[in-house]
Amino acid sequence: MLQLYDSLARKKKDFKPYDKNNVLLYVCGITPNNATHLGHAFTYVMFDTLIRFLKHQNYGVKYVQNATDVNDSNDVIQQAKETGKTWTEIAKFWTDHFHKQMTALNVGRPNEYLLASDFIEEIVSINETLIEKGFAYQKNGNVYFDISMFRDYGSLSKYAQEQMLMISLERGNDPRDPNKKNPLDFVLWISVQGEPNWKSPWGLGRPGWHIECSAMIKSALGDQIDIHGGGRDLIFPHHESERAQTESLTGKKPYVQFWMHAGMVMYEGEKMSKSLGNLVLLEDLLKQYSPSMIRWLLLSHHYRHPWEYDAEELLKCELRVTDLKNKLQQKDLGNWDIIEKLMEDDLNTPEVLRYMVESCAGKTLSRAYTLLGFKI
Ligand SMILES: [Zn+2]
Repeated sequence: MLQLYDSLARKKKDFKPYDKNNVLLYVCGITPNNATHLGHAFTYVMFDTLIRFLKHQNYGVKYVQNATDVNDSNDVIQQAKETGKTWTEIAKFWTDHFHKQMTALNVGRPNEYLLASDFIEEIVSINETLIEKGFAYQKNGNVYFDISMFRDYGSLSKYAQEQMLMISLERGNDPRDPNKKNPLDFVLWISVQGEPNWKSPWGLGRPGWHIECSAMIKSALGDQIDIHGGGRDLIFPHHESERAQTESLTGKKPYVQFWMHAGMVMYEGEKMSKSLGNLVLLEDLLKQYSPSMIRWLLLSHHYRHPWEYDAEELLKCELRVTDLKNKLQQKDLGNWDIIEKLMEDDLNTPEVLRYMVESCAGKTLSRAYTLLGFKI
């Protein structure tokens, strides 16, 4: 029986989707203003590996991912201003770049790849309903979610109030905003005069980041889904807020059966991030190393655990990959059940790789290779 770790329950649970033939999976996508780095690769290779395993176990999967091409902050718009291009050109350039990098790593395309800017109408309509039902309010052209109406707020991240306040401030959701009823209320719609902006009952503006994913999931997958994924840094405020909005909107619980989060990739002692400038770009690695080596490095770390990138470790992967390629032609060796059991235990890819190196050859090895998405 497949068991996956659910971040909300904080434990591994038996995987029982609503419909085995149509597992509903959504993974939060990139903000298209930046080159794809190893942290992105870790998250998307992990979900690609999950999908490969689900399909291997005869599940049907509907996989939706998005790009946050527009939101209440101005990540993409700022770059458009700096370069003299339009924000849509910037978003297209970086989403194309992302797809190219993912293809190189043998990461399959989602069934649907959505742009947040295509869902403005749905977002406005959701906001209207949330206001009608008393879960949200408008003030000076902004719409906020009223967290006092969702008693469970904070139970996904399990952060204390002070911690949530601190992170909100860091991420640009100022707890001191005088329009708010509660310091942790978050934006569903923000009044913006400059382009791009859209008409709404509250004036010209742009949607908040969290409501975008709620709207895209509702449109593409429905009110309740099986798996919602992303990097660990999305738990709060993004997923915490998504959950509050959608469960308030639909009245159905749970919004998500399994919250799955990939650990952070560190470099030089800190989380790899654009703002810190400690990025290891995938395009640079791909110039020097084979995609299989990079994929091996990523899968040699369990998806939930944070780890630090080390070029030495990547070089060791080369030996492994070359050694195994030689063993592919040899006599069959290894027990497929062991591989399957390890994968069923919350995708224990590090142990699968170890088992492949130590005990597999021939047909079993090549099956394991294919299962984990390596190109032979
Ligand atoms: Zn999202």
